[in-house]
Amino acid sequence: MDYSDRLRDHGLRVTRQRLAVLAALEDRPHSSADIVVAEVRRDLPDVSIQSVYNVLNDLTARGLLRRFSPPHSPALYETRVDDNHHHAVCTSCGRVEDVECAVGHAPCLTPSDDHGMAIQIADVLYQGVCEDCRSGAAGIAAAPVLPQGTPPK
Ligand SMILES: [Zn+2]
Ligand SMILES: [Zn+2]
Ligand SMILES: [Zn+2]
Repeated sequence: MDYSDRLRDHGLRVTRQRLAVLAALEDRPHSSADIVVAEVRRDLPDVSIQSVYNVLNDLTARGLLRRFSPPHSPALYETRVDDNHHHAVCTSCGRVEDVECAVGHAPCLTPSDDHGMAIQIADVLYQGVCEDCRSGAAGIAAAPVLPQGTPPK
């Protein structure tokens, strides 16, 4: 993936900071801004936190990055855009996995009632407990998580 071309396609100037942010998120999808700052500083030690935040906001606004906010977590960023994939989040350790909607189809983009809105993204978030946490590797007894609104049996 040549991000120089993608930046130009989106009408953005190619800068080392923008390329470094995109490369960091290519390596580590679903990273918070703080992690991106730490990654970018390995190549560009003098970069300021504010300028990384600005780059993240600009690239998100132009559609080169996707931002999503799991509960109890700072916003996370990724380079995988435009496929309406969803996320599964472990409520115990916070790990995030991508979940395909349906390749080339994205049925969630056709809601049962769109209320007259032109739907652009279906931000579905699955929450549960991952395999590692369930197996109790860390000695934590993970309580089963009921989806909201599930009546107790
Ligand atoms: Zn977990
Ligand atoms: Zn993702
Ligand atoms: Zn879907």
